[in-house]
Order: sequence, then C-alpha cells, then structure tokens
Amino acid sequence: MLKRPSILVLGAGYGGLSTVVNLQKEFGADAADITLINKNDYHYESTWLHEAAAGTMKPEDVRYDIKDVIDSVKVKFVQATVEAIDVEGKSVKTDNGVFTYDYLVIGLGFEGETFGIEGLDKYALSIANVKAARYIREHIEFQFATWSTEEVKNDDRLTIIVGGAGFTGIEFLGELGNRVPELCKEFDVPREKVRVLCVEAAPMVLPGFDPELVNYAVGQLESKGIEFSIGTPVVEATPEGVNIKKGDDEFEFIKAGTVVWAAGVRGNRLIEATPIESMRARVKVDKDLRAPGYSDVFIVGDCALMINEAVNRPYPPTAQIAMQQGVQAAKNIKALVDGTDTHTFVPDLKGTVCSLGHDDAIGDVFGGKKVTGKKASFMKKMIDNRALYMIGGAGLVLKKGKFNVL
Ligand SMILES: Cc1cc2nc3c(=O)[nH]c(=O)nc-3n(C[C@H](O)[C@H](O)[C@H](O)COP(=O)(O)OP(=O)(O)OC[C@H]3O[C@@H](n4cnc5c(N)ncnc54)[C@H](O)[C@@H]3O)c2cc1C
Repeated sequence: MLKRPSILVLGAGYGGLSTVVNLQKEFGADAADITLINKNDYHYESTWLHEAAAGTMKPEDVRYDIKDVIDSVKVKFVQATVEAIDVEGKSVKTDNGVFTYDYLVIGLGFEGETFGIEGLDKYALSIANVKAARYIREHIEFQFATWSTEEVKNDDRLTIIVGGAGFTGIEFLGELGNRVPELCKEFDVPREKVRVLCVEAAPMVLPGFDPELVNYAVGQLESKGIEFSIGTPVVEATPEGVNIKKGDDEFEFIKAGTVVWAAGVRGNRLIEATPIESMRARVKVDKDLRAPGYSDVFIVGDCALMINEAVNRPYPPTAQIAMQQGVQAAKNIKALVDGTDTHTFVPDLKGTVCSLGHDDAIGDVFGGKKVTGKKASFMKKMIDNRALYMIGGAGLVLKKGKFNVL
C-alpha cells in the first residue's frame, strides 16, 4: 500500500483555512494526513479588524474557534507558532515541535510595512491582528479617560493620526467617524477637542477607486469631522506624534496621542528566511500557486503575489483572492497526489466594497456598477457573510454573521 501523503498547512487565515476545508472535501478520511498549524486556536476575520480597533465591534466578535469549522477526523489541528520553514529538508520548526511534509501550503498572512520610516515601528500602532486591534481600541479609550481625569488638560492626547488613505485607512476612519461621538459622550469630552487626521503620501485617496466614489467617501468622512492631509508623507514618528513633509523644505510636526499606521502590508517575514525568492516576503507564485523551484510548496493569500496581466500590476492582497486560492491549492494538491495535471488559478473578482462605518460604504461591483450609502453597506455585509459561509457553512453565518442591515 502506498504511503498516505502528508499535507501541512501553515496559518488559519482566509487562505489557510479555505485550503483546509477544501482539502477535507478532496480527500477521504484515511486518504491523507492533513495538519493545520496556527498561532492561536482561533481564526480572526482580518477584514473586520478595523472595527475592533476603533471599538465599534468587540474583539471577541471578530474571531471564532478553528475546531468549529474543521473536521477533526480528517484534519489534525496544532496550536503552534511557526519559527522556520526548511523547504530543502521538507520540515517546519515550531515552538511546539518539528513537522515534516510531502506537500506544504504557506498561508501565514500579512505584516505591516513601514518602508523604513524612522520611528514608525516603535511609536505607531498597526491593525495587524486581533490582539493589536484590541490594543488600539484600549489605547484610544485610555487617552480619553486620562484627558477626562487630568487636572492640566493635554488636548494632544485626543488627536488620532491615521497614516494611509488606502483601503484599510479609509475603513478605519469610517469606524472612527462613528466611534468618536460615542467616546466623547462616554468620557465627557467636547467633540471639538478631538482631532482625527488622515495623512497620506500619495496625491490621492483610495488609489484605483473610481474618482466619483472617492469624492463621496471623502465628503462623508469630512462631514463627520475627519481631516485629510494628502500628498504629505510621514517622515518620522516620535513618542509625541509625527513629522510630515509639506513641501521641498517644509515640515510640520503634529502632536498626537494615537498614531495608527495603515499604509502598507507585506508578506510574513518567515518567507524571507527561506531560499524562495520574494519581494517584501511576497512570492511571485507559478500559475498553479506553487513556489518557483519548489514543486511541493504552495503559497496562498497575502504571502503570494500574482500579476494581473490585463493591467500588468499585481493583484491587491485581499481575502477574496486568498479564499479562492485555498480552493485551487486543495484541488492542485489532490491532482499531484493522483498523478494528474494541476490547474491554473484564475481569480474571479466580484468587485470591491469599502465600508465607511456600519451604515455607509462605496462599492464598485458587478463589473463597474457604482454603489454608495446603505445599499453599498448592505452589500459589504453580504460579502462578509459569504466569506463566513465559504469556510463554515450556514452554521457559522448564523453564529457570526452581520445581520444589522438597515
Ligand atoms: C483592516 C483591514 C480590512 C480589510 N478589508 C478587506 C476587505 O474588505 N476585503 C478583502 O478582500 N480584503 C480585505 N483586507 C485584506 C485581507 O484581510 C487580507 O488580504 C487577508 O487577511 C489575507 O489572508 P491570509 O490568509 O493570507 O492571511 P491572514 O488573514 O493574515 O491569516 C494569517 C494567519 O496566519 C497566522 N500566523 C501568522 N504568523 C504565524 C506564525 N508564525 N505561526 C503560526 N501562525 C501564524 C495568523 O495568526 C493568522 O491566523 C483587509 C485587511 C485589513 C487589515
């Protein structure tokens, strides 16, 4: 009898979890040894982290237990932190032992990218995972609580700077737009004392989005008191705030109690310690999602980089693509085990919806249809619920789904 293939999946984010639930479908109970390794015993919805960070959603509502969505007869789950990946020796070192594999799927996700800007690593917060999101929420609340009790008021505590007017930055600002009035009420802080400022290096907000939708988004956020400083790169962060470049020799230091950096992501640094070629820890994968030169290693999610040939630019890293890659990676591993051909991964892009709080959004959907307001917000919630459905079926949607549709 042939040895059962051993398949190791690293990371229970959208890419890794989607791979595992689809491997469960592809393989019978005794047909493969499937192991999933993840740092925590829960999955978190990265696409909801801005809500947990702003405090408009509880951090525990963003996550669910991995054991609830995997079939423990077919998949062994190991809670462990991956420390090193040896693609030559076909093994993975973790803080909970060493694991060998015949096929490896790397889905270790994203990390914040600070582009070497001085002080950002140390003094800015990043919406990187559920613990970091909870920290940001509590940090902001702490600033409001301290202001309300200190005798000599330091109004700079109440300034929140968000670095980056891309997707994550705008979604976070949307939540802050709703959260700040609640915080003011809770901590007896006059609204005019609070400043929320978005600082962006590029000359525009939400690059790649339709300009009409961008105007709508900026108008809605400004109406909630959010300020924008566009085309003004952050050049340094300190414990007191950030220094921004306003002209050739013109700089402005803005004092702030909270600085959140939302201006860039990269792949997981563990990739860079392997011989696999990568750019900011993102691997330009082969068409069937394998790492170039390593026929037994698949890469899914934000650690994978794929070029959209229509525009000759990389596809943006999204949950939508990560989940679709998981489906294809599982199918391709089954094909390799069966000795048949693997298939090319083709993303099926269903559009993009960017939320502006729980009750507002902008979207470019169904191949160019523009939607705004409550309609777009409803679509965003349906997208979120669909992602839950793809991983955990109707049960997970009922447990964690968003039904507060207006
Ligand atoms: C605030 C925000 C909003 C977003 N909104 C959208 C959106 O609306 N639509 C969209 O499509 N995309 C959105 N994205 C992007 C999307 O979240 C990512 O593209 C997606 O999470 C990538 O999935 P992944 O599986 O590669 O990684 P992740 O979801 O990051 O999962 C990686 C997993 O690996 C685990 N892990 C990491 N390191 C280790 C280690 N050393 N050992 C063990 N386990 C480890 C992590 O704990 C995690 O469970 C958003 C991102 C953010 C931050």
